[in-house]
Amino acid sequence: MNITQAIEKGRLCLSESDSPVTDSRYMLCYVLACTISYLHTWPEKKLSEQQGTDYEALLFKRKKGMPVAYLIGQQSFWSLELDVNAKTLIPRPDTEILVAMALEKIQLGMIVADLGTGSGAIALALASEKKNVHFMAMDRSQAALKVAQANAKKHKITNITFWQGDWLSSIAKNTLDMIVSNPPYIASNDPHLKRGDLRFEPSIALVSGQDGLKDIRLIVKQARLVLKSKAWLLIEHGYEQANEVNMLFQQAGFEQVQCAKDYGDNERVTLGQQPLQ
Ligand code: GLN
Repeated sequence: MNITQAIEKGRLCLSESDSPVTDSRYMLCYVLACTISYLHTWPEKKLSEQQGTDYEALLFKRKKGMPVAYLIGQQSFWSLELDVNAKTLIPRPDTEILVAMALEKIQLGMIVADLGTGSGAIALALASEKKNVHFMAMDRSQAALKVAQANAKKHKITNITFWQGDWLSSIAKNTLDMIVSNPPYIASNDPHLKRGDLRFEPSIALVSGQDGLKDIRLIVKQARLVLKSKAWLLIEHGYEQANEVNMLFQQAGFEQVQCAKDYGDNERVTLGQQPLQ
């Protein structure tokens, strides 16, 4: 089997996936330890017997629904290739808008916390762009923190402290210059949880009570205590939650509350500023 044939095999095998050819290419690159451009340059290159077997095993698992990111242990986010595993959410392009918004507001010398960091995606993207800012990457899950720390090491990013904690409960009052978070925000009975990649991702990173807002409510409340005067809170949420999240920010007393859309034109990130104290 050569590269062209392998991709064709994947296309046929994964006909139920939204992206059978792309999925096949990623898995083939993983097996051959090569880049996508190598696949285009050497379409007639033959796979060894072992490579063929490994590739077919991946196709089989993918056909059963396992996300490509977990099969190859990798997902790109911002400018970084991140390690991921089943203990961490798979970073989404939607979340890059949160990174872009935060970068506009981050200034030299700040201390910025990323709550529920998972694979470290948001903290690492920000820290890779802002070397003179200190970041705290926090998560309740030790297993996720281990992945995030490994990603920091892989990308030689040293301006992050990793911290295990339950949202902001262990943070002293009036200490943070910014908080960013992609918390769980899916309602526990949402049928999407039974479809696609979500079936395989850790529910601790996805599900937030009956209305999906349990954690956002808590973070907004706690953030008012730990943010310094004029500091910003930026939270990712579901595409239908913008109004409710806006209200939570307003009720808590945040100012300049606004919403930003993601690349899919969905209202995805709400931000607000701590009043002058
Ligand atoms: N953005 C993810 C999805 O809806 C959910 C991530 C989250 O709950 N933070 O697929």
